[in-house]
Amino acid sequence: ECQNVKSLPAIDVSKLKITLAKELKPLPELGPLTFGNVMSDHMLVLSYDPFTGWSDPEIRPYGGLNIEPASSCFQYSTNLFEGMKAYLGPDGKPRLFRPDMNMARMSRSATRAALPNFDGEALQILIKKLVAVDQRWIPSEPGYSLYVRPTMIGTRVGFGVAASQHAVLVVLLSPSGPYFPKSLATPRRRAWTTLLASATSIRAWPGGTGEYKLALNYTPCFAPQKDAEKQGYSQILWLLPVETPKGKQWKVTECGQMNFWIVLKRDDDGIELVTPILDGTILPGVTRDSLLQLGAQHNKGSPLPGLSPDLQITAREDTFYMSDILRWEQEGRLLEAFGSGTAAILAGVWKVGWEGRDIIFGTTMDDLLKGGEEDVNGLGPIGKALYERIVAIQLGKVEGHPWSVPC
Ligand code: PMP
Repeated sequence: ECQNVKSLPAIDVSKLKITLAKELKPLPELGPLTFGNVMSDHMLVLSYDPFTGWSDPEIRPYGGLNIEPASSCFQYSTNLFEGMKAYLGPDGKPRLFRPDMNMARMSRSATRAALPNFDGEALQILIKKLVAVDQRWIPSEPGYSLYVRPTMIGTRVGFGVAASQHAVLVVLLSPSGPYFPKSLATPRRRAWTTLLASATSIRAWPGGTGEYKLALNYTPCFAPQKDAEKQGYSQILWLLPVETPKGKQWKVTECGQMNFWIVLKRDDDGIELVTPILDGTILPGVTRDSLLQLGAQHNKGSPLPGLSPDLQITAREDTFYMSDILRWEQEGRLLEAFGSGTAAILAGVWKVGWEGRDIIFGTTMDDLLKGGEEDVNGLGPIGKALYERIVAIQLGKVEGHPWSVPC
């Protein structure tokens, strides 16, 4: 049987069929563009059948899919997705940021959801072709990009509670603006993310699916997110209760749909950049991995923009608890906090609500108040330096950088 499965057709890029839209849509006005609400002219569609393998890939006008209502995706949430961005390089050519990382993560998600697997390199080639077809949708204004959303859904028909061996894979494109548009950033506080640390709702747990990009991880977050907003916070800081030799502790994991970072002052006036260890409950963010590397390179020949090359920076993954954050606050070590992810890239955190009070990231606030028009996404100086460096790479401004891949 295994041999049978192996011999099924894999994704065949050479069979790509392109049907162009008869009429192209008008491009949206950039100003009011919010995240993920406008779709481009075309989409990529493939399907998988356990008897015939992957279908010939098709780029066709954006529009409805013909899916039976008894499909597995509607019954058992056999859905997964990815998120990446395409940018226009200085040469006017589209580029993707580390697409191999997204393909690898998508493949791991497919395995975890027992959905059909696929050749990530072939899918990457097809995504590049789709982006090239809809290239006019990549805004060239700074802060704007084209969000790429690959999605796979289980299409096995029937109510049997079992894996879906049938699937549809679509890739959609949506132009996206800055997470914090300039117009929204007045008054300045709108640019800050505020977090409510949650001891009641748990996003992911050991042995669960937090490290995969499965749709079922996101639904349970919506109601707690609404509650946090009612209490005046913009996102949730997701925690995990754990037993330690010191008793029950609240382990810090992620914030909203982003990886979480803390910037700490060291005794020697150096800086520590810390993000939680990938313990199975955390999504291995592409931005997270990039920031760890960029932080580590500061004293190794690639200093971050706007920071002294003499500033000693260590970037590390570590386990930390809410009790550590409270101790660092007492010791005056908490300089900055931010979230990282494809959509916002970096989003500065101003305060974290916990046990009825707010932990304020004071240095960040002072710096921001001094920062005037220079403020980006509510970030302090370290976050801003990382932001500028990663954005320069994403836009293809760092010549020959391996993370920026031409389409
Ligand atoms: N955590 C979660 C739960 C996410 O959904 C995302 C967005 N993919 C991230 C972190 C950040 O990952 P990335 O940097 O790859 O966008």
